[in-house]
Amino acid sequence: NKTAARRDKYYASSLTRFTPFRDPIVFRKGQGQYLWDTEGRKYTDLLGMNVCISVGHSHPKVVAAAMEQAQELTHCTTMFYHPTPAHLAEELAATMPKGHEWVVHLTNSGSEAVDLAMTMARTFTGNLDLLALRTAYHGPTAAAQSITGISGWRHPGMPGNVAFVPEPNQYRGIFGPGTQPYLDEIDRTIASATSGNVAGIFVESVQGYGGIIEMPTGYMSGAAERVRAAGGLYIADEVQSGFGRTGANFWGFEADGVVPDIVVMAKGLGNGFPIGAVVARKHVAAPMAEKFMFHTYGANPTSAAAARAVLAVMKEETLQKNAARVGGALLERLKDLQTRHEKIGDVRGKGLMLAIEIVSDRASKTPDRDATTSVFEACREQGLILSKSGADQSVLRMVPPLCLSMDDVDQTAEALDRAFQNL
Ligand code: PMP
Repeated sequence: NKTAARRDKYYASSLTRFTPFRDPIVFRKGQGQYLWDTEGRKYTDLLGMNVCISVGHSHPKVVAAAMEQAQELTHCTTMFYHPTPAHLAEELAATMPKGHEWVVHLTNSGSEAVDLAMTMARTFTGNLDLLALRTAYHGPTAAAQSITGISGWRHPGMPGNVAFVPEPNQYRGIFGPGTQPYLDEIDRTIASATSGNVAGIFVESVQGYGGIIEMPTGYMSGAAERVRAAGGLYIADEVQSGFGRTGANFWGFEADGVVPDIVVMAKGLGNGFPIGAVVARKHVAAPMAEKFMFHTYGANPTSAAAARAVLAVMKEETLQKNAARVGGALLERLKDLQTRHEKIGDVRGKGLMLAIEIVSDRASKTPDRDATTSVFEACREQGLILSKSGADQSVLRMVPPLCLSMDDVDQTAEALDRAFQNL
């Protein structure tokens, strides 16, 4: 395979480490929830090319919007006026909770948006210390790594002033199921590991790389309350859990009625085009104007045109509703598999953000990385692209395009069933 050989020779080792499958697949084409490789084999993309594909691969309306814009004016740097990113900012602000003034800062990626949100929180509050969750993933820039709790993603020498709190994982969290002890731990961490005044807390409404860990009822609003009492902001990282993916709500934080001070987004916003954004309460963003800051490509009209088309298609095709309906059906099928396969320790998630956690046995809950890899490879043989996640790489994550169908649910459940039978 020449492409694999070329990639492995010229990509840095930090990248070649990510070769998910034993035998490389070279992708050629995508449409809706499906991908085809160079040999013509079809796959169902339950990874949504890393949660980026919200409305479907190469959606004709998104592609047409980007192409039209690229032909007219591909790039117009952020400091100038252009109607497309300005319209997008208006539309993004309109998705936020009513009764507050929201402003938008466009970036190129999720980690740039996280990085900016960190700076914004520190600038607004005048405090340095940030809180994040131990199984959080917030991105690869140095700043985003510094608040990424999963140690396997954090390199040496990252900036400091970060304290980690235990994730309220209802399956294997240190305090067991429930919300209150995890909230109390936020207070304890503020008292013991910070100056007492904090800049904010970053929370993924449903953790992605952490292994689809949904914040239990009351956690997000409770965390906001405790952090605000210490002078900090509540920052929602909706890079994976936003854009209708969780079904019931457009933004994951809405499930708990919390109104964040800052919302970070990317991935599904561009349906594969590189774009991210920080949407913040107007007064919170205001002090950033004391110094210069913008991203050269941040308000790039081509990506912004794609993102506007994504928002329109989400509505036209009622994809959030589809995520709730099809995701609900898939969750039921996964729960049914759990009754028959001992190695499925936990099934969780909502909408089209679902996961199976694989354990050596249910009593010990020991993560079974080898069995996870076997199921993952067996699914690939049957044309399913899944992803391994979680701090122990023992969670099979399902985050497909939101246009997944009931037929795909059947095929997914049947493929997983066969994979577990053959373990
Ligand atoms: N936050 C979360 C929750 C993410 O999952 C990711 C990417 N996986 C990021 C931030 C960083 O986004 P990007 O890779 O676009 O920089």
